[in-house]
Amino acid sequence: MLDKVLIANRGEIALRILRACKELGIKTVAVHSKADRELMHVRLADEAVCIGPASSAQSYLNIPSLISAAEVTDASAIHPGYGFLSENADFAEQVERSGFTFIGPRAETIRLMGDKVSAIEAMKKAGVPTVPGSDGPLGDDEGELLATARRIGYPVIIKAAAGGGGRGMRVVHTEAHLISAVTVTRTEAHSAFGDGTVYMEKFLEKPRHVEVQVLADSQGNAIHLYDRDCSLQRRHQKVLEEAPAPGLDPDARAKVLEACREACVEIGYRGAGTFEFLYEDGEFFFIEMNTRVQVEHPVTEMVTGVDIVREQLRIASGLPLSIRQEDVELNGHAFECRINAEDPRTFMPSPGKVTLYHPPGGLGVRMDSHLYTGYTVPPHYDSLIGKLITWGADRETSLTRMRNALDELLVEGIKTNTDLHKDLVRDGYFQQGGVNIHYLEKKLAQ
Ligand code: ADP
Repeated sequence: MLDKVLIANRGEIALRILRACKELGIKTVAVHSKADRELMHVRLADEAVCIGPASSAQSYLNIPSLISAAEVTDASAIHPGYGFLSENADFAEQVERSGFTFIGPRAETIRLMGDKVSAIEAMKKAGVPTVPGSDGPLGDDEGELLATARRIGYPVIIKAAAGGGGRGMRVVHTEAHLISAVTVTRTEAHSAFGDGTVYMEKFLEKPRHVEVQVLADSQGNAIHLYDRDCSLQRRHQKVLEEAPAPGLDPDARAKVLEACREACVEIGYRGAGTFEFLYEDGEFFFIEMNTRVQVEHPVTEMVTGVDIVREQLRIASGLPLSIRQEDVELNGHAFECRINAEDPRTFMPSPGKVTLYHPPGGLGVRMDSHLYTGYTVPPHYDSLIGKLITWGADRETSLTRMRNALDELLVEGIKTNTDLHKDLVRDGYFQQGGVNIHYLEKKLAQ
């Protein structure tokens, strides 16, 4: 087992990783910016190192600082969490070259999946269903572009191979707008991501976002941990997630779960990962793979009983997965509400001092948060301050628990989006299950 892990992240996920390390008897090193001295995991870690000023670019994204911190503390591995450097292949490579274990997939795998064109190519080869689209990157020939779009059928979407965070995409409804859309997306992609490669996909009009959690060890074993539905999104940011995804076509689901598991074996995947799909009319369409632990991983943990971060640490230690596919059992239903420090109506960030924090509790209630009364939420980072997760034997029980838990949650001194969640868990369509990715934005517009 790894001896000492440096946690290259902050907030709730740093605390989550610290807890998993403690359970496994692994020593922990917290790194923090000057603005983050008061973070809960910094207090709880065996050692703490300040890695730079408040700005993420100079601290949590500063590769030399992180590697020096690992050197001075004699850490054996680095856990990147999510966001920041978690999907940066160069970071993974430098960590390994400096003699530390990167807790995640190999750098080549991160690179392969970071380029959406090569990711889709690899998935097609592995038998994972993809969105009908262009065969690889788009060229300059206008006649060919028009023919490709005609073959796919309008509307189409032009996407940057290097895109991320919902940026670098453009929907085209008619032939008249195709060429200019390709040109503009290419130019934007070039300036935003330093890579002007673009490709074309069929634009699905009312899909759900359904994703599959996987785990793979370095012995070639891979398992899936079923699915999650993350369709409630605002500006491509997930707001509320659940596991399992309700009401999927059973045959299509069984096929896609197995295809994801097999794809992991085929590409030599290592660690935790997520296959993201759009799901429409009973069909799955792969859009991208995330090569890290995700914010919403707890809902899967609640319904499978598998501790995903613990598995990541075991895999990085060279141990085999602690569970086989045939032993993974789905039990009950889980929801997660992302609690953000923001105005529930304008969504403006609301940093500041928390004058009172009271997390909800009780059977089937889990609060993953770094908050405490007296903590000051700094203005420099993502506004996620906690994740409220509920479990119940069935969807309705879990949802009822979430309603009650949200009513119990008290965060005073700053604004939070708790009221938005209170609204959502009482929404009739959401209660039925299976709303599409546009539902939340439409509801907000009303
Ligand atoms: P990113 O890496 O920027 O998150 P994705 O490829 O995951 O990019 O797409 C982000 C979002 O854009 C999806 O969740 C979906 O809402 C929308 N989207 C992407 N591709 C399509 C498509 N082919 N049809 C409809 N919507 C799409």
